[in-house]
Amino acid sequence: MPQPEMQVLQGMGVSGGIAIGRAVVIETRGPDIFRIHLPPAELEAEVARLHAGAQHAREELQRTRAKAGKDLGSDLAAIFDAHVLMLSDARFLGRVEERIRAQQVNAEWAVHKTAEELDELFAHVDDAYLRERSEDLTDVSRHLLRSLQGISHHELSELPEDVIIVADDLTPSDVIRLGREQVIGFAIESGGRTSHTAIIAVSLNLPVVSGLVGVTSFVRDQASIIVDGETGTVVMYPDAETVERYRHLQVELRTRDQSLLATRDLGSISRDGVEVLLMANIDLPEEAEEARSFGAAGVGLYRSEFLYLEKSPALPTEEEHLEIYRRLIEAAAPHPAIIRTYDLGGRKLAREVMATEEENPVLGLRGIRLTLARRDVFRVQIRALYRAAVYGDLWVMLPLVSRLDEVRDFRAFAAQVVAELEAEGLLFRRDIRLGVMIEVPAAAMIADLLAKEVDFFSIGTNDLIQYSLAVDRNNEHVAELYQPLHPAILRMLRFVIDSAQAAGIEIGLCGEMAADPRYASLLVGMGLRRLSVSPRRIPEIKTLIRALSTTDLAALAQRCMGYATAGEVRRHVDSFFECEVLSSERM
Ligand code: PEP
Ligand code: MG
Repeated sequence: MPQPEMQVLQGMGVSGGIAIGRAVVIETRGPDIFRIHLPPAELEAEVARLHAGAQHAREELQRTRAKAGKDLGSDLAAIFDAHVLMLSDARFLGRVEERIRAQQVNAEWAVHKTAEELDELFAHVDDAYLRERSEDLTDVSRHLLRSLQGISHHELSELPEDVIIVADDLTPSDVIRLGREQVIGFAIESGGRTSHTAIIAVSLNLPVVSGLVGVTSFVRDQASIIVDGETGTVVMYPDAETVERYRHLQVELRTRDQSLLATRDLGSISRDGVEVLLMANIDLPEEAEEARSFGAAGVGLYRSEFLYLEKSPALPTEEEHLEIYRRLIEAAAPHPAIIRTYDLGGRKLAREVMATEEENPVLGLRGIRLTLARRDVFRVQIRALYRAAVYGDLWVMLPLVSRLDEVRDFRAFAAQVVAELEAEGLLFRRDIRLGVMIEVPAAAMIADLLAKEVDFFSIGTNDLIQYSLAVDRNNEHVAELYQPLHPAILRMLRFVIDSAQAAGIEIGLCGEMAADPRYASLLVGMGLRRLSVSPRRIPEIKTLIRALSTTDLAALAQRCMGYATAGEVRRHVDSFFECEVLSSERM
């Protein structure tokens, strides 16, 4: 077959780098399932179609099993055996059959509804083993639906190297799992710049372009494809000349990264001698040491929920928490390691912790709300935090705080946990600094009150922008409305920074806003001296800060407060930096 013509798509580059590889298309949002009413005369044919679909899915799984057994060992292959068995199980298929006949519906609808019903049953049992079976069931029914609809399906273990995943949507844990296999890049339909999926890809150093509406419907499996996370471009079916050009760019990027690394031992000090601490945001354990190699001044945010997601469906043990916290504290020394308690819920949903499905999880039982609601689960984390504090400078931070009561409740709960540790005679440290994320507008507006009861603030612009502007950070359709320079955001930042300074507490910012060197500089102009970003963003920000004076930046920030729209602020910031670049070139 002749190679189709080269096509270029434009999305958002949310994680840098360039990947050249072969596409593998996956649809995680699941096929659309319609309920179709069938006349009685067609019901037996529909049941036969169900069995043919199940047979096809079994054969596909058996092929995957054979391959998995060879590559991954018999334990993992046994998972596929369990799936094949489920596809032969009369209790599952029998229920589906019954539904087709009783409700006179198509096989897809019957499979979907039966899986939903069983899932609901499993979700409420105490037995962890059975709850895991419910995940198997979800996988199996998805497989069966694809077979019924004739959709091709791959298992990653069957694939050659240099895989680029083209997907409709991916959860952060999908990216962790896929990113540690032979995947070298992602092209995704959904997602904004600050989605957790993008954040994890940066942690894994894999290029991602998101916001590519409809991409899964026109990329063919195994098509050659280039993902350019620097510019947000995806090239399908590139010609030889284009591939060559991108190979060159890859080399240039590597050289640029190497030269930026040379800033590692330089102070993060502005032209007029003011120190700005550039700390590391850490999602995965392996980034602890990486943070040091990029010259981070400690850990400004450890998203501890990823430890949970990596261990899921089991809960991490106290010793597992302790081990990773110690690793972080030691990598951060002599600076602090700020560990955020679980921010589960929202999209970082955890079946074992959440009792129910929520219609609007981002406004639901998330962050500190979930911590306080499920103390049995969080006791383990809090014990480990107090125990880990003996290894160095550990600060504990609470996510998604919206009320002062949450801080007070947490303190009371922590006091109980400390009393338990004391009674058990375990080694721990009592005087940990406690801080809050400022990422809900309500918290920003009571920053002066919160500042009296906590030791530090860290502004989480990713959520603060989402909640203030009512713009979903994962939704490609409103990505243009996600504006860090909106006057509402600048005013909130102004108030929060002033409140922290008036109370004399530490303040930093750990949202992705700081990852853009220009915005980072503006934030310095607003008075921040502690910014936390993904470790590999540090060199570029440091280089820019070293070239600027905080007096000029303060004047810039002051002028920005006077504009009425994000566009006006943006234009002013851009022209400031153009002048700065010109004047530094003249020097
Ligand atoms: C934020 O909201 O800005 C933040 C840093 O937390 P997360 O991205 O994990 O929600
Ligand atoms: Mg947040």
